[in-house]
Amino acid sequence: MEGSKECECGSTQYGYYADAAIVYICYKCGKFDIDGFSKKIQDYFAEEPKLILQLIQDGFLHPLDNSIPEYDV
Ligand SMILES: [Zn+2]
Repeated sequence: MEGSKECECGSTQYGYYADAAIVYICYKCGKFDIDGFSKKIQDYFAEEPKLILQLIQDGFLHPLDNSIPEYDV
């Protein structure tokens, strides 16, 4: 699994994981890509993308790659 991938906006989406779930998020445009979460959680994230940032900050989602910068909400 790649630690990051290119976003449609030209910036970078950084990858984070929790158990069997993966999130890629772009800090520039806010676009995200998730896999392995339940439909309900996906809906929550779509409504409130800040939840993803909060989960990262709280340590529930871990960077896929150690070179991923720490996100400070
Ligand atoms: Zn983007």
